[in-house]
Amino acid sequence: MGILSKILLTFILCFGLMAGISLALLQHSLGQSYSAIERRELSAHMGRVVQSLEADLAHLQSLTRDWSVWTDMYNYVRQPDPAWARENIGLQSMEPANLSLVMVYNGKGEPVSMDTRNRQGGTLTLPHLLTGPYADWFKEVSKESRCGLMNSDAGLMLMCKANITRSDSSGDLVGSVVLGRLLDNYFISKLREQTRLPFNVQAGQTMPPGLTQWSGTVTPGPLGGGDFWTQHEPNVYHLYYGLQDLLGKNIGKIALDVSREVHEEGEKLFSQMRRQLLWTALVTAILLTLVVHLMLIRRLRQFTTELVQLTQISNWGARIRIAGRDELGTLSDKVNTLLGVIESQMETLETLTITDALTGLSNRRAFDTRLALEYARSQREQQPLAMLMLDVDHFKRYNDHYGHPGGDAALQALAQVLQLSVCRASDLVARLGGEEFAVLAPETDAAGATALAERVRATLRERAIAHADSPVGPLMTVSIGIALAVVDQETPSAFVQRADQALYRAKHNGRDRAFCDAVDSMLTGR
Ligand code: GH3
Ligand code: MG
Ligand code: MG
Repeated sequence: MGILSKILLTFILCFGLMAGISLALLQHSLGQSYSAIERRELSAHMGRVVQSLEADLAHLQSLTRDWSVWTDMYNYVRQPDPAWARENIGLQSMEPANLSLVMVYNGKGEPVSMDTRNRQGGTLTLPHLLTGPYADWFKEVSKESRCGLMNSDAGLMLMCKANITRSDSSGDLVGSVVLGRLLDNYFISKLREQTRLPFNVQAGQTMPPGLTQWSGTVTPGPLGGGDFWTQHEPNVYHLYYGLQDLLGKNIGKIALDVSREVHEEGEKLFSQMRRQLLWTALVTAILLTLVVHLMLIRRLRQFTTELVQLTQISNWGARIRIAGRDELGTLSDKVNTLLGVIESQMETLETLTITDALTGLSNRRAFDTRLALEYARSQREQQPLAMLMLDVDHFKRYNDHYGHPGGDAALQALAQVLQLSVCRASDLVARLGGEEFAVLAPETDAAGATALAERVRATLRERAIAHADSPVGPLMTVSIGIALAVVDQETPSAFVQRADQALYRAKHNGRDRAFCDAVDSMLTGR
């Protein structure tokens, strides 16, 4: 895995972890706030519905009280007059007051009159009204006016009862008046308009299964104990408020469906945050990739390419060009320093491999390399090339006479003589081994080579290295074989062999002389 991939992976891991934890914490704290807000809002909705029903009940109560202190009503219950009843508390008076039931009881708890009215102006069928569970409640004569809900044959009904007295509240309790208002569709739709909430009122004790009870958010009142039950789907909350009748029995419920706007708002916020975090991560990753690529990867690749190139061609003199004051710049400087050390070591090594340790001249290896080059060039450019092969005369004897160190010193002196004798920078003087030397002289013909050989011998003579045991003379002498490159494409080793043979001839002819291997096809200078 590359550095960039590793950096990106680390970034993704860190960012993912950070974003995940932040989102989880935020969701935990904000989620709770959203739940609390939602719960408050839902309770307020249900509270409004309950309040609207209770307000209507309060209105019915005040109407009942008004009727109960009406002097005509007082007189009527004491001396019932059907004509008065028809005109004043009958169907005609019920419609404007939106009443469904009007009952008058006398002081003994006996019904004096009872009128019912449905929305179409007809009567309601309430066969169990006077014999059912509420009969005692109707009959009971007490000072307090009372209100509540009743489950009648026609449906749920708001009921209020007040005791009939004189208008100044003096005198006996002579009876009671009971008014009822049916919670029919018309009535409920009016309340829906008022509250702007789509609730429904349903009779029956049963609640849907799997509900959660919420307590303490709606104030208990005459219609219920304040508790309500909830159930939710992703987008909707179903709320149920338990309704109790005037005997305290569960008889129905208010059902209200509320869309979960707060919850959806919260979900929207979180998905927006997730999207924003994702985009932030994406943009940051792209920027990080660009920056890391420009500042690190590109320079690292350049570094590697340059290092590979210079090691492939063993160009220790080259340097890596990575600028910058960072770690990579420092690394590049260190590698360049190392390359400098390798370069100087290689130079030393190279010098050692091509130099003769005793005389400091080029060695056999350098001679062979140079010979191959010069030979090829002389063939290519048709230029003459001469080779002088030298061997000290009777050097064994020299060693025997002066000792081996003396012999070494003589060889060093001879090396100096040879270097002094060659004039051109292009000439190469080499020690081939033992007391054998060679001079490679490019662009030199037979005459030039012979002159060079004679110059060597003359300089050696001048140097006058004593060789007391030499049969040739009192001074050290050399025999020189001269060969010249030919045009017939012979090999460099054949060229060396000819120089050797010429040397042999010089030895054979009496030593202390030069012998030139004259060949017809040899190259001559132009
Ligand atoms: P010739 O005239 O026929 O060449 O007689 P020579 O005695 O010189 O015979 P040859 O060239 O075969 O002898 C080479 C001698 O050179 C043998 C060895 O003792 C001596 N020699 C070779 N290398 C060295 C060296 O590095 N130092 C010294 N002191 N002597 C060496
Ligand atoms: Mg020899
Ligand atoms: Mg010799």
